[in-house]
Amino acid sequence: MSIATINPATGETVARFEPYDAAAVETRIANAAAARDVWRATPLDERLAVIRRVADILDARRDEYAALMTLEMGKLLSAARDEAAKCAMTCRWYADNAPRLLANDYVDVEGERAWVAYQPLGVVLAVMPWNFPFWQVLRFAAPTLAAGNVGLLKHASNVPQCALALEALFAEAGAPRGVFQALLVGSDAVEGLLTDPRIAAATLTGSEGAGRSVGAIAGGQLKKTVLELGGSDPFIVLATADVDAAARVGVQARMINNGQSCVAAKRFIVHERVADEFTEKFVAHVNALAVGDPTDPASAIGPLASRRQVEDVDHQVQQSVAAGARLLAGGRPLDRPGFYYAPTVLSDLPQHAPAYHEEVFGPVASIFRVPDADAAVALANGSRYGLGASVWTRDMREAERVALAIESGSVFVNAMMASDPRFPFGGVKASGHGRELAAWGLREFTNVKTIRMRPAASP
Ligand code: NAP
Repeated sequence: MSIATINPATGETVARFEPYDAAAVETRIANAAAARDVWRATPLDERLAVIRRVADILDARRDEYAALMTLEMGKLLSAARDEAAKCAMTCRWYADNAPRLLANDYVDVEGERAWVAYQPLGVVLAVMPWNFPFWQVLRFAAPTLAAGNVGLLKHASNVPQCALALEALFAEAGAPRGVFQALLVGSDAVEGLLTDPRIAAATLTGSEGAGRSVGAIAGGQLKKTVLELGGSDPFIVLATADVDAAARVGVQARMINNGQSCVAAKRFIVHERVADEFTEKFVAHVNALAVGDPTDPASAIGPLASRRQVEDVDHQVQQSVAAGARLLAGGRPLDRPGFYYAPTVLSDLPQHAPAYHEEVFGPVASIFRVPDADAAVALANGSRYGLGASVWTRDMREAERVALAIESGSVFVNAMMASDPRFPFGGVKASGHGRELAAWGLREFTNVKTIRMRPAASP
């Protein structure tokens, strides 16, 4: 895959970048290795001052960064601004909370001074996706650098200018040379990075296939990984749900980021008593969505990130329809320049339809009908993914029972799934392992070290 900025709103190639050659990659790994000891020895408050300046720069340049995100991957400009603001908020959350979360945990042991210390692992490689080109990187970088690690970013090949802007952002915030660098390389370079002894650990956010590959190579090297992979999140609407709200929020939960979010609601599992009403309202909201230029404030949904995304999504939709699924809305690429796909709703999906068991990474909702809450849970858990979930009901006892029964990294009741620095984020099963955000994200790339000190006997 070439490294280039291709505007999804027009299909035009805006800029091309030569991948770094072996010497350029080596220079950056050497810089990172040299920065490792400098940064871990830097007092925590000085490290956090850098993270706080990152937040200030994100706020000051919000419009500039938002324009870059929209140019490279097509998200609505308003959503890109919100993304930059959320990155700043998360940096500040870590700047405020890292001292507490990284403090020694003392353990009361008679006759000993004993504690658990959190120490950095070293150079951490981050392989990142294009869908939230700033958020995915900052939610890795803020806690990982706060904990005293050094970051090397291999960003997705279609967002090279975001990658370079992020590198410049950390430099401007005062991160010492080598503490945060971008590598403009394709995915074929990742194996060489993972096997380099100077790189201690890796985090990947991306597809299941990329996760399997990185997990296998890093596993062979006995290196720690965090894998944030795909999802096919259930959005369960039970018999007593507020159907109006569920249909309205359900459309947002599916179409957020032009349908390209790992934690978008993808499978709508609806109690048969409210299924007709929900489907009618949901389809009406979908048909009312204004598809258009992501820089136009009137647009509710913009293009997909690439031509390949449009082809992949359309293939899954056509195969699902051929397998017997019913098409209730959309179902085709839009006939205009750029990478637009009509917001789509499918129902009556047979088990062998791709949209039944695969992640569809585009504006496509699948509606399923179930007789009761147990059937809803069984269908939700029948996926190989387990990232997020949303449950809609007025019966809070039922809500709690269902929330505990769902196999996923998080469950939201009467709300759509969203990440938040105060809570851990991640998945189970093929959605990956490890956690980002909150204390768990801060400690993932630390050596959780036990120290027990007994006084020596007097001579
Ligand atoms: P992707 O194709 O897996 O790419 C993600 C990153 O991995 C890119 O930097 C890519 O590099 C690299 N990559 C791809 N194949 C690789 C391989 N075999 N070995 C090493 N690196 C490899 O995913 P995407 O299409 O960009 O993103 C969409 C996917 O990410 C969806 O499945 C979505 O659910 C998931 N996602 C998950 C989360 C989460 O937190 N769980 C968040 C966002 C997205 P190139 O660009 O150079 O190919």
